[in-house]
Amino acid sequence: MQVVVVSPYGYCSGVLSAISLALKAKKDNPSTPVYLLGMLVHNEDAVKMLSGHGLLLLDERVAPLERELREVKPGSVLIFSAHGHPEGWESIARERNLKIIDASCRFVKENLIFGKEAASSNPLIYIGVRGHLESEAFLSNVRSAAFYDVKTNKFEKEKVHGEQPIVISQTTLSYLELEEAHKEIKKLFPKALIGKERCHSTSFRQDAIKKLAKDIDMVIILGSKLSNNSKKLEEIAKSEGFEARLVLDEQELRSLDLGNIKKVALASGASTSKETFLACKAYLESL
Ligand code: SF4
Repeated sequence: MQVVVVSPYGYCSGVLSAISLALKAKKDNPSTPVYLLGMLVHNEDAVKMLSGHGLLLLDERVAPLERELREVKPGSVLIFSAHGHPEGWESIARERNLKIIDASCRFVKENLIFGKEAASSNPLIYIGVRGHLESEAFLSNVRSAAFYDVKTNKFEKEKVHGEQPIVISQTTLSYLELEEAHKEIKKLFPKALIGKERCHSTSFRQDAIKKLAKDIDMVIILGSKLSNNSKKLEEIAKSEGFEARLVLDEQELRSLDLGNIKKVALASGASTSKETFLACKAYLESL
């Protein structure tokens, strides 16, 4: 089988840094429980690897994270995820005598700092995905922000008091996903100032799929179904007319029926490791 590699692939810088911080935290605290508050990154294999190193997951799919945080054993180490967290959680952690390690991606932190500053002088509009930890954390930290949900186009326009709002967005949303929201906001607030994309990890991957030659039989995206940026890659591949599949890893890839496929393009989300990518590539090339 011919495999076209869609670059970039492998972890983005934020995921790499969060994983190495978590591994170091366990190494430095071998006899203390070290908890991840939520999936550190949206990839089951990465979380499984961290569990294998002794890190304990407080899983948002099991119970609300704030409730889980309130039950962590005092004296433990607590790692905040790459997506950010409500600042109030830091006070709860301190009250419980937890040692905090913040694995928030630098772009997420920069976005929050910029958002707070902007909100002190102008109305602020934040575009994101309802329920995603990064958006929920931002909104709880900058309460005056008017939220625009990019999935449903629900917009809290009544919260915008002023003609010239500043518009920022969840870091992993690319300009392709933001286009419609920006148009809608400009219609209502022609003087709105639209902020630039802060992280290009996802838009580079999306652009690479849009540039694929049309003789490809299938686009395979490696990533979790919990990962917004991986799901978006699948959606873009389909909208470009390709047959596309989103699979987590080599095990899931092996279950695909690739009988008539001669040429595939292999892409991956920002929270899929290089090792997984190369193992899948080798498997496909062996067919
Ligand atoms: S996709 Fe961008 S913002 Fe998100 S963790 Fe990776 S580098 Fe950070």
